[in-house]
This record gives sequence, C-alpha cells and structure tokens, in this order.
Amino acid sequence: MKASAPRGWMAALLLAGALLLSGEGQRLAVPPVRVDEDGWLLPDLVVSPAAHLWVEVRDDEKGNRRLLHFATTVWNYGSGPLELVGDVPDDPAVSRVRAWQRVTRRGGATMDLRVGDFVYHPAHQHWHLNTFARYDLYALADGRPPRLVRTSGKVTFCILSSDRAPTTPVYPVDQEGCGLRRQVLEPGWGDTYGSYTPGQDIDVTSLPDGEYELRTTADPEGALRELDEDDNVSVTRLLLTGPSVRPLME
Ligand SMILES: [Zn+2]
Repeated sequence: MKASAPRGWMAALLLAGALLLSGEGQRLAVPPVRVDEDGWLLPDLVVSPAAHLWVEVRDDEKGNRRLLHFATTVWNYGSGPLELVGDVPDDPAVSRVRAWQRVTRRGGATMDLRVGDFVYHPAHQHWHLNTFARYDLYALADGRPPRLVRTSGKVTFCILSSDRAPTTPVYPVDQEGCGLRRQVLEPGWGDTYGSYTPGQDIDVTSLPDGEYELRTTADPEGALRELDEDDNVSVTRLLLTGPSVRPLME
C-alpha cells in the first residue's frame, strides 16, 4: 500500500497550479500542493454541479411517477489519494465490513482511520462506502429562502478513479475499484456516477413545476479526512416543467 504514496505525491506536484476542467466545462482551480500541519498528504473532495439532467416518467408498482435523473462527479484535488481499505471477512457471504481511510504521511508512514462500512450493493454487484454523498432538492421562490423539499438521505458509492481531468498528466493509476480490499480516487481524478445509474434520481412526482436547486454534497457526515472540509457542496439551479427539466444559469 505504501507504494501509492510517492505516486500520489508526484501527481500532486505535477498538478500544482494547474486547472481541472470537468466534463461540464466547470473550471476548478487546483491550488498548490497542501499538506496538513502534521505532514499528512490528504485528499480534497470537490463536487461538480449535477449534470445530464433528465426527467423519467415511470409507471411501475409504485404508481405513475416523475423522477429527476442526474450525473454526479466527485473530484479529488488534494495532495494525496482518497484510499479506502476494508476488512476482509473470513466468511464470503458477509455483506458488510468495516471500512477505513488510509492516509499517508510524507516519508511513507500510513494511518488507517475508521470512516464507515463497506456494504455489498446487489444491483451494482460491488462494494460501496455506506455514506459518501447526499442529494438535496430545494424549491426556489422569489424573495424567500430556498426550502428543502426532497432529500436522498445517505447515498452509498464505490470509489474509482474513472475520469482523468484534462490537465492531469497521463501516468499509470490503479483503476481497480469497487472491491472491498482497496478503493482509490487519485489526485487529479474524478469518480462519476452516470444519470442512468440506479440511485441517481430524486422522486419529484408531487412537486409543482418551477425553479429548484439541486445541492450535491460529498462526505455529508464529515467522516473522511480532507485538506478542506468546506468545499464539498455543489449547486445546480434548474427549471422543472412537466416531463422536462433544464439547467438555469446563475
Ligand atoms: Zn456502485
């Protein structure tokens, strides 16, 4: 596991001062390499605004429903990888194990911090961290503060370095992900859950047409250790009209 430390550090050096450009064209400034005061190389999770919005009208056993779908990308632009390791159970039938964040110090020492559980997700057929994100929908009305009308509650996620930012140098990264032994989001990489992925939707059946704000939060319970805990929320304004939706510019 220690082999990842120099690689993450080198990537962070190469990234210093660069820009991340997400698939949606949002520019995210990458600050110079930051190391926390104790010398730990930490990740910093930053969320792109929800993308690829679409409305599904679904008729199933729950009735006729209107679902707002969207894609989520969580980036790491910290100075170290987000590295999660799980306890390996003796019994292969176990579907929940303890999950740890492995943080690496300059020089290579590592420390494991308990951050939650890995739970086996039968629909996705791999392992998820039990709380990684939350999606909140707020109604917007002139002159009034945004009002929370829907929340996803805890969203589970598996960590995988799936999207290289255009300014991230090409170098080999471990793209093995979603297993219980180790999941890694490298610095300068993002992890996308597409808008067709089960769970990437909010039920808006009974909500009136109008303007809303979709707020996506990474690590909503603050369980993960990061360089910056105050940049984990993105906001997308949208207009919901019958079976359609479109994003609104600020
Ligand atoms: Zn999954």
